Amino acid sequence: MKNITILGSTGSIGMNTLDVIRQHPEYFTVYALTAYSQVDKLLEQCLQFQPRYAVMVDKLAAKTLREQLKHHHSKTEVLMGAEALVEIASAEDTDYVMAAIVGAAGLLAGLAAARAGKRVLLANKEALVMSGQLFMQAIEESGAELLPIDSEHNAIFQCMPTDGASNGVEEIILTASGGPFLHMPLSALARVTPDQACAHPKWKMGRKISVDSATMMNKALEIIEAHYLFKLDPKAISAVIHPQSIVHSMVRYCDGSILAQMGHPDMRIPIAYGLAWPNRLSSGVKALNLIDVSQLDFRPLDTERFPSVALAYQVLQQGGTMPTIFNAANEVAVAAFLQEQITFTQIGTVVETVLNQSVAHAADTIEQILLDDACARELAKKTVNALENA
Ligand code: NAD
Ligand code: MG
Repeated sequence: MKNITILGSTGSIGMNTLDVIRQHPEYFTVYALTAYSQVDKLLEQCLQFQPRYAVMVDKLAAKTLREQLKHHHSKTEVLMGAEALVEIASAEDTDYVMAAIVGAAGLLAGLAAARAGKRVLLANKEALVMSGQLFMQAIEESGAELLPIDSEHNAIFQCMPTDGASNGVEEIILTASGGPFLHMPLSALARVTPDQACAHPKWKMGRKISVDSATMMNKALEIIEAHYLFKLDPKAISAVIHPQSIVHSMVRYCDGSILAQMGHPDMRIPIAYGLAWPNRLSSGVKALNLIDVSQLDFRPLDTERFPSVALAYQVLQQGGTMPTIFNAANEVAVAAFLQEQITFTQIGTVVETVLNQSVAHAADTIEQILLDDACARELAKKTVNALENA
């Protein structure tokens, strides 16, 4: 029996995780659930899964949740504030931590789980992009198990040599569906709305990652994520467009073999894999029928349509905290786009402006990472304001 803590249980990944756990009560108990401020959803989850703890970052929402749980005679204890996320992620009774908070907000709790030697199921790619070196060092020093949940990285993990070494691996190939704007005329991109950008053709996800998929910043973040996770030179990491989203990624070996992992685009597959590893567990996803799929297409990535992907290689080459700065600028730009302060194509403008005006530092302390994250956010907000007033 494993005790699970889900950071971000009310989100898309959080809910998919609970869906898998619900199918296997003989293996998993929910130890803690956390959310930012969604009282109704967290209440419903607490009543169903009866965790020992519920953490609400927003203090007012935490008080409301506490009252409502009391009203239902629930034994779940409510903790509040971002500090409680760190506490719960590293608590002695937590065995597995699903890191599914979106963005930099998940960094400290994810890092705490890594340092405490937990099995970390990592969906929160931004945390790794921000702190790759520190995060991987924490995993190694504590003996934690890091299971990638991002579908591409989970696929690669499944196709890598089982001894953990990368012997014979020449390249990893990330697939990208192309998002909602794969065929839209380039001239129309400046006018797309947040709802259009969030209408992903293959995956149902939170709004931030949906926008990242539309700009392809998601693939840039994933190239950086893959670099840290698999300790591969950026030159050995590439991306191709695969509109069907059936092949989730591939590993090419020196003998000419390519191993691929396939499945329906449903996050319960990588989640079940991460929970069960090194075994397998049913996920609730129906079997893939390749005759129904019938065709798998692969195309090169159009760099004019998706200039963001090149930024991944640029920031990795610059090194230090440049990936942190990149992530911070993108988070601010996406939030500004979702609030209709800037246009879709200006997301890239904001990110590039911040990168051009920033200086990276060594990324070996959390203080420096948080400092450069904060500076980049400030610069990004200034850039957003300038674009808004132009
Ligand atoms: P989401 O927006 O649906 O959910 C985010 C969760 O984080 C919610 O539970 C929310 O309450 C919590 N949260 C938000 N801000 C917070 C804050 N400041 N402090 C504490 N908690 C906060 O997002 P999602 O789509 O589930 O994505 C979560 C993470 O997983 C992201 O990093 C994303 O890139 C990654 N991911 C998601 C998918 C997917 O299919 N949704 C696939 C691959 C990777
Ligand atoms: Mg992905």
